[in-house]
Amino acid sequence: MSELRKVIIIGSGPAGHAAGIYAARANLKPLMFEGLARGGIPGGQLMITNDVENYPGFPAKIAGPELMAAMREQGVHQGVEIRSEDVNKVDFSKHPFSVWAGDDNVEFKADTVIIATGAQAKWLGLASETALQGKGVSACAVCDGAFFRNQDVAVVGGGDTAMEEAMYLSGVCRSITLIHRRDELRASKAMQDRVLSNPKIEVLYDTEVDEILDVAKGEVVGVRVRNKKTKATHVLNVTGCFIAIGHTPNSDIFKEFLELHDNGYIRTKPGTTQTSVQGVFAAGDVQDFVYRQAVTAAGSGCMAALEVERWLAAHGSH
Ligand code: NDP
Repeated sequence: MSELRKVIIIGSGPAGHAAGIYAARANLKPLMFEGLARGGIPGGQLMITNDVENYPGFPAKIAGPELMAAMREQGVHQGVEIRSEDVNKVDFSKHPFSVWAGDDNVEFKADTVIIATGAQAKWLGLASETALQGKGVSACAVCDGAFFRNQDVAVVGGGDTAMEEAMYLSGVCRSITLIHRRDELRASKAMQDRVLSNPKIEVLYDTEVDEILDVAKGEVVGVRVRNKKTKATHVLNVTGCFIAIGHTPNSDIFKEFLELHDNGYIRTKPGTTQTSVQGVFAAGDVQDFVYRQAVTAAGSGCMAALEVERWLAAHGSH
């Protein structure tokens, strides 16, 4: 077991890095677990985002991985100690808190913890979807779109993520069929307009995915869809199917100790990042199902570090 840390940060998206930068500058010597591919992508969801046009300070847009590399570099420069390991388990039932990480499951102890583990893509839950993941079924157009160059693909979902995926794929693929379960899109007006005016994208409303074909062949050769009103089914001849139906917070390992909302997001005291356990703070998408933006995640990461500093001062540890 290692020395007692003032603060451990779990997660390395904008929330984690903002928390790290602020905590390091406050001389809290933060230890960050940035994760491995298993528990979420180090760097978070921006690592699978192509162009970021809405993070202030980058007027000509910036690639997601580039932005995250810059945040990481800034954290390291300020003195954040980063371990490229997943956290496997925590114990928030007694103070100091325990965090077990890495293949050897080493225990680390800390006065405070900032959870910034983000969220990850949701799946439809079809057996064929699971069987064909990585064989034509994907939840990341930026990661996998290039495999479908000049091919016909489907995108499932009606929110901003689905619009982004469809727009990105329209630059790579021959045609995109957007499958949405209702008769109106959920996405913002601006994103809808872009999709609806794109000649490569066709929208199927009131439609759900019945099955992704063909599990026996081990590759996607089509998607059987059903019109929810008429119940009629037909097969779309596509070779790729991108699922873009929202996200699930990475809160599983904390649920034994912390209060969560019904949708699994960590509950924080309004206006703060304080969780139901004193000294444990949560920032970014793992506690935010309303804004879910890189800039709001970074803002809440900053809040968490400031709250940690105050908490430590109030408890005589800083
Ligand atoms: P959303 O929850 O906004 O949308 C999910 C979509 O998937 C909805 O249209 C929903 O249908 C559909 N859906 C959910 N579950 C199923 C299912 N089981 N079967 C079929 N369809 C399903 O998630 P997003 O990831 O799109 O967006 C999350 C947040 O992030 C939003 O606030 C969004 O604005 C933001 N965002 C912003 C971006 C930007 O500004 N550039 C880019 C991406 C996201 P229904 O509409 O019927 O509920």
